[in-house]
Amino acid sequence: MLLFFLFFLLCHFPIGTTILAPMKIAVVSGYGSLEPEMQIQLQNSLKWFQSSFLVEKSKTPVEIQDIYQRIPEYQKFSSILVQTPIHRQNMKFQDLKTLLEIADFTVFVVAQDPKKCQRDPDLLAEALPIVLVPDERPPLAMMSICLQNNPRHQNPSLDSRFFYDLFRHEILHGLGYGLIIDKSSITHKPSEKYIWNHSNGLGQPENRHFLDFDTFALEFTKKHFSCEKMKGVEADGERKNHLNEYIFGNELMTTHLEATGNIFSWISVGIIERTFNGPNQWYHINRTFISTEADQYSYGKKFGCDFLQKSCHDFIKITEKRSPTLNIAPFCSKNHNHMCYRIPSSEKLYKMSDKDCEMRRVIGAGIDKGGEQRRCPMIKHFPAKFEFFSCPPPPGG
Ligand SMILES: [Zn+2]
Repeated sequence: MLLFFLFFLLCHFPIGTTILAPMKIAVVSGYGSLEPEMQIQLQNSLKWFQSSFLVEKSKTPVEIQDIYQRIPEYQKFSSILVQTPIHRQNMKFQDLKTLLEIADFTVFVVAQDPKKCQRDPDLLAEALPIVLVPDERPPLAMMSICLQNNPRHQNPSLDSRFFYDLFRHEILHGLGYGLIIDKSSITHKPSEKYIWNHSNGLGQPENRHFLDFDTFALEFTKKHFSCEKMKGVEADGERKNHLNEYIFGNELMTTHLEATGNIFSWISVGIIERTFNGPNQWYHINRTFISTEADQYSYGKKFGCDFLQKSCHDFIKITEKRSPTLNIAPFCSKNHNHMCYRIPSSEKLYKMSDKDCEMRRVIGAGIDKGGEQRRCPMIKHFPAKFEFFSCPPPPGG
């Protein structure tokens, strides 16, 4: 009894009158196992969700009938593969009932649309939340995977961590990130027009869109970028499903995953915690668990309002003049010429002036209809992780 009580105390976090517990999560597939490495990374991502997310037990259990109705292709399966953070097991479809009673969130792998996958070779997977009771958190999600677009087929040396980030990204969508709309419109912000100045000085009218549910995230985001007047968390485009790639770089919830890994930052913590309709918060993030990763996020740190509101060309010009010591890598700057960098845990120093610049298309900027592509001067072959500082004086000098 005492043991049971201790377990109860350790695993449940009462907040107000609600009792929160680590989210029990499972992935169900009628299509068998994925490639071994993908399946292992799927399992790792489930471990991450169970450690990061705290939820309240739903009062309305999911029934088999709900699955038949909302995910009709599951009517044809008599057996399924169930992956949880610790186990992988085949079971009869009818035994799913017990799993649905225990799990707080279940993702169903659904068939891919081969034409859609072919049309967009960058499309790796998609997930959609399924809300069964209005204003309650989705207990289910559907996820499709474009197996034919597996980037490892092109690039076998790609680290399998890539799939870990892919599944974390997709399952976050499944929980509602960028896909649940704020029905009350309390957090909705109107889009705004602005001018993007190209390197030749010509201005191009553009639109800026903001994510719903940014009230928790905005405070942290303002501090991160050092911009108190920041209006909202910029989205990838009209659809508002992602963080803007140009602004947020290697954050996990931008549109593109990096081969070198993506970071679930305090910005996404704020977005997913505020993603709820109705009076009750759906998700609580375990801050102790997440801080090691979230604290690493440094893209755009202290870049200021000019980065958020003007073109990269304006931003570079302004910082070159006004903030000579500001590190604006991966963007090129004359101020970097006296700077050096080192890969963490390595002794070797590199001078920034040895690095060339290239004009690179920036993703997530100008992707609205009619928007022209935008290019920015970026440092060539710059490592994703680096320590940046003023070069030491030459020996004896
Ligand atoms: Zn996405």
